[in-house]
Amino acid sequence: MSNATQLIHSIPVDALTGAISVPIYQTSTYVQEAPGVNKGYDYARTNNPTRATLETVIAQLENGSVGVAFGSGLAAIDAVVKLLNAGDEILAVDDIYGGAFRLFTHIYEKFGVKVNYVDTTDAENVFNAITSNTKLIWLETPTNPTLKVSDIAAIAKIARAHSCLLCVDNTFASPALQQPLTLGADIVIHSATKYLGGHSDLIAGLVVTKEKELGEKIKFIQNASGAILAPFDSWLVIRGIETLHLRVQQHSRNAQAIAEFLETHPAVGKVYYPGLKTHRNHDIAQKQSRGFGGIVSFTLKNDTEQAATAFVKSTRYFKLAESLGGVKSLLCHPAQMTHKSIPAEKRKAAGVADSLVRLSVGLEEVADLIADLEQAFAKREQEILVTSIPA
Ligand SMILES: *Cc1c(COP(=O)(O)O)cnc(C)c1O
Repeated sequence: MSNATQLIHSIPVDALTGAISVPIYQTSTYVQEAPGVNKGYDYARTNNPTRATLETVIAQLENGSVGVAFGSGLAAIDAVVKLLNAGDEILAVDDIYGGAFRLFTHIYEKFGVKVNYVDTTDAENVFNAITSNTKLIWLETPTNPTLKVSDIAAIAKIARAHSCLLCVDNTFASPALQQPLTLGADIVIHSATKYLGGHSDLIAGLVVTKEKELGEKIKFIQNASGAILAPFDSWLVIRGIETLHLRVQQHSRNAQAIAEFLETHPAVGKVYYPGLKTHRNHDIAQKQSRGFGGIVSFTLKNDTEQAATAFVKSTRYFKLAESLGGVKSLLCHPAQMTHKSIPAEKRKAAGVADSLVRLSVGLEEVADLIADLEQAFAKREQEILVTSIPA
């Protein structure tokens, strides 16, 4: 996606009526002239014109050939894993979304799909961990919640050389900032619940494939398994996409200012944001994306769950909630919320410290957001700053 104009006009005007807003086809079935003679639609699990419009739009934005819209981001991930067979292996980023970890471990391992986790920020780790059974490499970049960045183009080359698929969860960047298929990936998935929907008012998932044939396989899996996106929710995602460009630019600007503020605060330990020069993979982030997104994570100097709990309860504009990517700023404590299903040692090994706080920076005036964080630090100074009580 090169610019706002292209994005806005990727959403078509209705051919039948000229309606400028995409019609919502709230129907379960379609009348046939004769058995098997229809207008391209026979049953709404298989296809729906509102959903089809969203699927065409996202395929265009991601520079792919087929888009498929699901009832949630996890349903989209689930459909991609269903491409595999028992005995196949997935090589996944270690700092993976908690729900994806749960799906891989508690559902797919019992069907004989093995998952290995590596730190994909160094492409060589991927090269070294790949086996002849690896059929799918699973990346998130930037990751949730420590904003690790992996080199999509370098890993795509490794995947190609081993004839295995590369799937990138592009939820955090969105196609406004990063197009993994252009960089060599085979599949992109989204939790459209986040930036694509953009208003914290729906749950949705998307898959986009580079090749048509692979897309047809995903469509087959969706029709066979049934996890479709409803017409109204498809329409809400389309409406969200109309302002994606504008929103993501502002999310990124606000997040950059907040990351720079946090870096100078005495109560703060580490700050994770790909837009900071101190970020380990700042160069790669700059090379493969048009901006750094709206998520900022940080730890407290007093690296305890208690200190983080005290902090997240003290903000006014940053609301304490799971999820991200909406207009209103949110914050969460991954260790007790989004990443609770990952065992403590595994979670810490992946860099999710006890005191790590994740901000989803919204579209409020950035000075107000910084003032909010400042007052939360001040209000909880005792709990947050005290690192040990002398005996
Ligand atoms: C939220 C999220 C998902 C899961 O999406 P749902 O819409 O909640 O099912 C997957 N990946 C990432 C990176 C996410 O943030």
